[in-house]
Amino acid sequence: MATPLEFKSVYNPSWCPGCGNYGIINGLRQALSQSGCQQHETVVVSGIGCSGKDSHFVQAYGFEGLHGRVLPVATAIKLANHKLKVIGCSGDGDAYGIGAGHFIHALRRNIGITYIVHNNQIYGLTTGQTSPTSEKGFTTKSTPFGVIEQPFNPLALAICGGATFVARVFVGEFDQMVQVMTAAIFHKGFALVDIFQPCVTFNYKNTYPWFQERVYKLESQDGYDPRNKQAALQMALTEGDKLPLGIFYQESRLTYEDQVEEIKDEPLVEQDISNINIGNLLKEFV
Ligand code: SF4
Ligand code: MG
Repeated sequence: MATPLEFKSVYNPSWCPGCGNYGIINGLRQALSQSGCQQHETVVVSGIGCSGKDSHFVQAYGFEGLHGRVLPVATAIKLANHKLKVIGCSGDGDAYGIGAGHFIHALRRNIGITYIVHNNQIYGLTTGQTSPTSEKGFTTKSTPFGVIEQPFNPLALAICGGATFVARVFVGEFDQMVQVMTAAIFHKGFALVDIFQPCVTFNYKNTYPWFQERVYKLESQDGYDPRNKQAALQMALTEGDKLPLGIFYQESRLTYEDQVEEIKDEPLVEQDISNINIGNLLKEFV
């Protein structure tokens, strides 16, 4: 079995000192090794943003794609070889802004991707603009008079959109974060792990102490059952100063790749294509 050290990249992460991303990358390496993933069977796909570095900092296969396009790339990889463990890494802008359309359809497809979202409620790499999850009233350089829109609720959307694993964690609760990431990696189907990740340079509001005062663990709630969709949605929609963490919702459903006839018995990459002639097809492009 691989160890967290084996997933450690040869490059040292280079985020701002104190950034929540350091905890996330260490947690991801640990979760991968705890899940029994092997480096040569793991692919980390990232997009654009500070989280885009994730694919550089995990010693496995990696692909850094275009802004908001983590899920199309990850989907293609999974369909080409569904034996691989595919991890998508985005920020809140990448996942819920630019990539929102892909997000919605990945949920209902239930394709086997573990989606790790660094949710710092701001655009960090571009030096601090309002993101889809920024709170109402938050002032940034792009909204100097305060945000006037409602923030995007990724958990509620994921539950309603057909996701089969929906969780939220806080990087400051490291052990729980690793535990939930590990469960997400084990889950068969699309798994969302939304992570509160303080951006210490540009988000002056949602800081480590701010989260520490508000977060609590769902498992501490007597009788909370993540198989109850109604209760999960209600929990995801709860507004106020208390922020629950943990697995909100989980169900078992056939994955997309399990239902594609052509790859049911054998991954696409392992199929014999020597008797397939695409000559006539190519002629159409001449
Ligand atoms: Fe982290 Fe924010 Fe710096 Fe990006 S800008 S590396 S999110 S602290
Ligand atoms: Mg962000």
